[in-house]
Amino acid sequence: MGGESNNPGYNPGVKGRDLLDLSLAELSSAIEAGEEPSFRARQVWAWVWKKLETDFSVMTDLDRGLREKLAAEFTIQAPPVTASQGDDEGTTKVLLTLADGQTVETVLLREDRRRTVCVSTQVGCPVGCSFCATGGMGYVRDLTAGEIAAQVLHFARALRLQGERVTHVVVMGMGEPLLNYGATLRAVRNLNDPQGFALGARRITVSTVGVVPGILRLAKEGLQVSLAVSLHAPDDGLRRELVPLGERWPLREVLSAADHYAERTGRRVSYEYVLLREVNDRWEHAHALVRLLRGRLAHVNLIPFNPAPGLPYARPEDGRVEAFRRLLVASGVDATVRWSRGTEIQAGCGQLRTR
Ligand code: SF4
Repeated sequence: MGGESNNPGYNPGVKGRDLLDLSLAELSSAIEAGEEPSFRARQVWAWVWKKLETDFSVMTDLDRGLREKLAAEFTIQAPPVTASQGDDEGTTKVLLTLADGQTVETVLLREDRRRTVCVSTQVGCPVGCSFCATGGMGYVRDLTAGEIAAQVLHFARALRLQGERVTHVVVMGMGEPLLNYGATLRAVRNLNDPQGFALGARRITVSTVGVVPGILRLAKEGLQVSLAVSLHAPDDGLRRELVPLGERWPLREVLSAADHYAERTGRRVSYEYVLLREVNDRWEHAHALVRLLRGRLAHVNLIPFNPAPGLPYARPEDGRVEAFRRLLVASGVDATVRWSRGTEIQAGCGQLRTR
């Protein structure tokens, strides 16, 4: 083994290269460069991604010399929990501290038999949505692939203690995943690898606020990941107010990129729409949304706003939310309400960190 990595996920804040940043092929090359047979890489991979191990010394089917070489060159990060909150419905939110002291939020949602981990891809966020606590804190840095995957592995270990496993991942926490494309895709591919964590691509959702070049690139990856596009407004004027980045990519371009994604992958795209009282929750907005989406391979997730200190918006009445949904469905646009779980634990994006 040896040699400096040109892996874009290489993280100088971590002591040694973070093994979670490497693909199986890169790990194999590193191991073969140390004159070890390549099947050793698959053994290490299984320890890390299947058995969720972080300590090389317990990888007892590897000889001691290799374990020592691995420990000298690599680390397997498992960021510690700095704060956590849980509620009665089974939502758990943690603040994880990264090697350089930065913190990110990760959430586990338990819903029937689903165990969904919502991961962050950046510290802070450059998009600056006006209704989002993370948007208000600005952008600090991109996460590495290892830091993204480590959030999933954190909850995988916690669930394993209860005989459960992670069934879904949504890349929807702090940050805009498609503005940290390389690390996000690397983490997705590693989680999807059948010889390791083996989470099916269809169980992974990548969410974007509408970064058109990223959507087009994702369509070419040959992956079956689900795409969620955050609309939040049915016209460009209002959207620019709520999602400042919307100015760069108008709705027409965003929808055309999403259509291309649906065609290329055969996957239905979901559209996220945060409902803000008297801002984007009126009939005219619902009708405009219908005009925009009718006839598309689409599903709308309506998310009633979670009030948070310092954000100048209110949550619509439940009746208004339900009526908005019914209008969409009656007009031929499939829609559900994601009744926000975890309001009590401030599970809205960025709220634990700002606290
Ligand atoms: S809603 Fe998402 S994209 Fe918008 S500022 Fe918050 S984290 Fe960034």
